[in-house]
Amino acid sequence: MKNPIVIALDGTSASGKSTNAKLVAKTLSFVYVDTGAMYRTLAWHCLQKNVDIYDEKAVAAACRKWKTSLKCLEKDKLRAVYLSVDGYFPEKEIRTPETAAAVAHVAAVPKVREWMKRTQRDCIQFGNLVMEGRDIGTNVFPETDYKFYLDAALSERSARRAADGVQENLAARDQRDSQRAVAPLMIALGAKVINNSSMTAEQTSGIILEDLRKRLPAPH
Ligand code: C5P
Repeated sequence: MKNPIVIALDGTSASGKSTNAKLVAKTLSFVYVDTGAMYRTLAWHCLQKNVDIYDEKAVAAACRKWKTSLKCLEKDKLRAVYLSVDGYFPEKEIRTPETAAAVAHVAAVPKVREWMKRTQRDCIQFGNLVMEGRDIGTNVFPETDYKFYLDAALSERSARRAADGVQENLAARDQRDSQRAVAPLMIALGAKVINNSSMTAEQTSGIILEDLRKRLPAPH
């Protein structure tokens, strides 16, 4: 594939990025990339190896040394990119409250963000992408024409997480993500902003797909 297309989907925590990115990727037969999972995997790895997550140098060193590989696998009719560490792909482990509390600290380390940007850009080897995160439209693929930013009221986002059985201080994580020095969470220039507080996932992905269908080159 000559010039793979990248659809960037950024937004606050629990704003529906994953659900919508998956729906859009399935509909268009694009490859789904969850960049939050990559940061969570590093946070989990640091906790496993007793790396002090508040020590920037230690976290940067762990990121420099860890042995990872990217794989593109199809599950439930969705092709997605997975990051494995030492040949293991952690799934449940990266969704624990401990990992959630650690991840924004690890994600604020500049060397980590450099590594992640390189690795995430490497994902175009797998073809057209729907990539979700916090800095995809601003930092990882700023050149893409297809940028979306999702948000919803904090009460609604907390309720969504609680419905998934996860109690978490989302406001604290969003604040950390928005205030870090490198690639903070912000709306990319030209991004279509969707506040989906009172919308279903089908309605939100419907808006995204309608916009994309007008602009994507044929045959999408
Ligand atoms: O999307 P998810 O909640 O899994 O992201 C976990 C965390 O990873 C975010 O709160 C943020 O600290 C970090 N992250 C990031 N940049 C991205 C994706 C995630 O800093 N592109």
